[in-house]
Amino acid sequence: MALKTIKKRTPGGKTVIHRKKKMTSKHKCAICHDLLHGTPRGPRVEIRRLSKTQRRPSRPFGGQLCSKCSRKIISFKARVNSKLIEPSAVPISLRKYVNNANKFANFIRKTKEEGK
Ligand SMILES: [Zn+2]
Repeated sequence: MALKTIKKRTPGGKTVIHRKKKMTSKHKCAICHDLLHGTPRGPRVEIRRLSKTQRRPSRPFGGQLCSKCSRKIISFKARVNSKLIEPSAVPISLRKYVNNANKFANFIRKTKEEGK
């Protein structure tokens, strides 16, 4: 990881160079660019040291979309599945997430069964 160089003047009048770690940017929602909650920031090495559950929320689209957008996607998917709307009625920008929601149908079914 690249270091940020800062020039600082000491009390003795000298100018010294301090090297500081650059902070990574905050994670954002892929659709609305809102800040994501529950996703740590920092150097990649440090993030990899965390457990998987500490890296992102454990729900469909966790760490990718915010809760509002994932809710929107899941309701679109439910409407498409129950044939209330055509798949072509889904906005193009959301279509790839709606198609990917298939992957999570199993996840949701599994968690429901575990709850019983
Ligand atoms: Zn969002």
